[in-house]
Amino acid sequence: MTWVYDFAEGNKDQKDLLGGKGANLAEMTNLGLPVPPGFTISTETCRAYLAEGGMPDGLAEEVTEHLASLEEAMGKKLGDADDPLLVSVRSGAKFSMPGMMETVLNVGLNDTSVGGLAARSESERFALDSYRRLLQMFGGTVLHVESELFSDALDAVKKAKGTESDLDLDAEDLKGVVETFKAIIKEHTGRDFPQDPREQMDLAIRAVFDSWNTDRARLYRRQERIPEDLGTAVNVQAMVFGNFGMDSGSGVAFTRDPASGAQGEYGDYLQNAQGEDVVAGIRNTVSLADMAEIDAQSHDDLMDIMNRLERHYRDMCDIEFTVERGKLWMLQTRVGKRTPEAAFRIAVHMVDEGLIQMDEAVLRVTGEQLALLMFPRFDEDAERTLLAKGMNASPGAAVGKAVFDSDTAVEWAARGEDVILVRKETNPDDLRGMVAARGILTSRGGKTSHAAVVARGMGRTCVCGAESLDVDTKGKQFVVRDGETISEGDVISIDGSTGEVFAGAVPVADSVVVRHFEGERLDDDLALAVARIMAHADGARRLRVRTNADTPEDAARARRFGAQGIGLCRTEHMFLGERRELVEKLIVAEDEDGVEAALAALLPLQKQDFTEILEAMDGLPVTIRLLDPPLHEFLPDLTDLSVEVALAEERGEDSEHAQHQKALLSHVRRLHETNPMLGLRGVRLGIQIPGLFRMQGRAIAEAAADRMAVHGAPRPEIMVPLVASVRELEIVRAVLEQQIAEVEEERGIKLEIAIGTMIELPRAAFLADRIARDADFFSFGTNDLTQMGWGFSRDDVESAFFSRYFEHGIFDVSPFESLDQRGVGGMVEMGTAKGRETKPDLKVGVCGEHGGDPRSVHFFDDIGLNYVSCSPFRVPVARLEAGRSVL
Ligand code: ADP
Ligand code: MG
Ligand code: MG
Repeated sequence: MTWVYDFAEGNKDQKDLLGGKGANLAEMTNLGLPVPPGFTISTETCRAYLAEGGMPDGLAEEVTEHLASLEEAMGKKLGDADDPLLVSVRSGAKFSMPGMMETVLNVGLNDTSVGGLAARSESERFALDSYRRLLQMFGGTVLHVESELFSDALDAVKKAKGTESDLDLDAEDLKGVVETFKAIIKEHTGRDFPQDPREQMDLAIRAVFDSWNTDRARLYRRQERIPEDLGTAVNVQAMVFGNFGMDSGSGVAFTRDPASGAQGEYGDYLQNAQGEDVVAGIRNTVSLADMAEIDAQSHDDLMDIMNRLERHYRDMCDIEFTVERGKLWMLQTRVGKRTPEAAFRIAVHMVDEGLIQMDEAVLRVTGEQLALLMFPRFDEDAERTLLAKGMNASPGAAVGKAVFDSDTAVEWAARGEDVILVRKETNPDDLRGMVAARGILTSRGGKTSHAAVVARGMGRTCVCGAESLDVDTKGKQFVVRDGETISEGDVISIDGSTGEVFAGAVPVADSVVVRHFEGERLDDDLALAVARIMAHADGARRLRVRTNADTPEDAARARRFGAQGIGLCRTEHMFLGERRELVEKLIVAEDEDGVEAALAALLPLQKQDFTEILEAMDGLPVTIRLLDPPLHEFLPDLTDLSVEVALAEERGEDSEHAQHQKALLSHVRRLHETNPMLGLRGVRLGIQIPGLFRMQGRAIAEAAADRMAVHGAPRPEIMVPLVASVRELEIVRAVLEQQIAEVEEERGIKLEIAIGTMIELPRAAFLADRIARDADFFSFGTNDLTQMGWGFSRDDVESAFFSRYFEHGIFDVSPFESLDQRGVGGMVEMGTAKGRETKPDLKVGVCGEHGGDPRSVHFFDDIGLNYVSCSPFRVPVARLEAGRSVL
């Protein structure tokens, strides 16, 4: 078993084994870029360590060997008294988890070697600064001393000196800091800071492995759906020093703007700084353009390397670098995270630059990103009070009450309030609050700060570095430069696309992407990028996309969004409002005549509904589902009505109304069901009250005939819900066919109306071959099929116990949100296969929430369904994912 690999041995495709950081350090090493040498302890080692609860056999020897060759390459020994080799010990998992795990710099310094470093570098200040950083990082992350003890002590020294910048501390001050830090470690761990360099390194490696299982790392993985069992690699790398003086520094950069996708590099640089100083917002950074002024040579080298990296990876890269006395060193690269807007724009720009093909561009964006782009933006024409302008770190328009700590954010969000988390800067402990908030606002840090990186990853709106805000987290308020104060609970609005912060709630307006889908001609780079990607996805996809729509307005909008018909037109909404009274009449009718009269009153209204929808979808299929929900849903609530009747009786009231309510109550009692979702609904209604489906069938046939009379092209399809037995379908089908035949006869025309069924009960899936005999098409109702398959009441279970199910890993996403492919999906697959045994050309679709869920769309495509149907706003998402599924 090999546990350790030299940087020169790996490459970028070995993320499983070496972690993302290690694999890319290896790639850069082999590209000949200036990377400080080092080695990677594999993720396999971490898995073995976590499983065995200790370091695996043979590891120590391998580390010794690789350390020896590193020492040889550097011509120095780790922690040597005269000329110490120092190393960083860096975590790096397969998927990047920014700031979630530990890294320790300057390992190898101790009371002796700090002197050697000072002598060799001719800078005592630099050596002491490096030592205090080691004590601080090692104390916090390896020895678990509360990190604030160190930062508070450092602040106290700065305060005593009357400065805010650590650059003003001289060697004498730092000597004091080092002593204080060592004392803190002694006091809080009961032992001295380990002086043995190898022991430091071994403890740091162990700490990195342990950091895989911290609470915040687990929470991040759950949020990002990163598997729990991957483990992290550890990279041990020779140190280079950005804290050598003003001719040194440390920076982070992107090869394009990760927020907008605009061409041209983007980054932050900080002189005389090491490691996390840049992202921690300790001092204000400068742009790369300013860096060119400071150190033209290093800047040029950096531009060259960024160019090379982008061409090599054929994607936007994110890098970390350090300049040591005028020499540039690369410390990290990876394909950079980006906003949805940037993803679309970069993909298309790279096609135009000849870096990738259109197929790949489509694969580089996702339906979820598209969905985010369809959210509204702040209305630019609305009255608004600008409080400040920060950086546009992660787009979106978020409105909420200002809160200043994670606990409050979580608590208020849990009671249903929208909150904006306001911080000076965020750190990994703020993750819970960031998850709970609608948006994040910070007063410090750039687009590469922790807040920005994490918010972009989660798709949260974020404005960072709004420096004119004086944030007082203890006092739970912030003060704007001109004096206005915003306190906890005050509503603010933040625009992550412009960086603006407004007082109060700003109204929102449609996104350009939606306006594009609506058919507006826009000269907008994002709209054009989306248009090109969608056209290519449409050209590639096999699966058709329909919409769920019950009104002509929804139907028309969905059609503009690219829907190829209606897959589910629910009729229950057509029985509400003023029509509820007619339904009530139907239910309480004493005799056949009463029933017929009620149905006759409903017929023209239903016909009108269908005519309008068929018109909106002229030429495209419209699947109309016959009435599905239990009838009591159209009647007053049993308890309410009982109370009303009882009170009226007590008062001795005997008005016509009172009598009516009393009579109604007996019907409500009669229809009351303990398990209505398993009761008198769907096809069962059609069998119990045959007139109902007869009326609906006639309304559909007449509407189609009316449309034909005006030269329309109606393509109605009638869908029978909740069928479990072929006999049920036969009975209803006969009723419907008779109505269609009658209308054909009366009008002297031929109607094409398919009659099919929903498959939403396990029994129907099992007997689909028989059911197909009487069905012209199938549509899987995966909401009910999930409910019936798992035996989950979908109205109750999610809030009742799903969080426990997530914790135990029973599933990682609600099966109502993303199809349970193995179980419920298995029934869909089987039902489709069985149906097509009987009718090879059987048209099969899916309606329900899953029709617009990216993962589910890929599954439905893979098992050969003809179409999915989803809500109008998900139609573009499904189109895109159906394209991605075949590419
Ligand atoms: P993270 O995964 O949290 O970004 P890293 O392992 O990348 O942690 O370390 C954080 C920072 O520490 C890096 O961006 C870099 O600035 C600094 N760093 C790490 N290794 C070295 C090194 N060998 N020499 C100089 N700086 C280093
Ligand atoms: Mg890093
Ligand atoms: Mg259903």
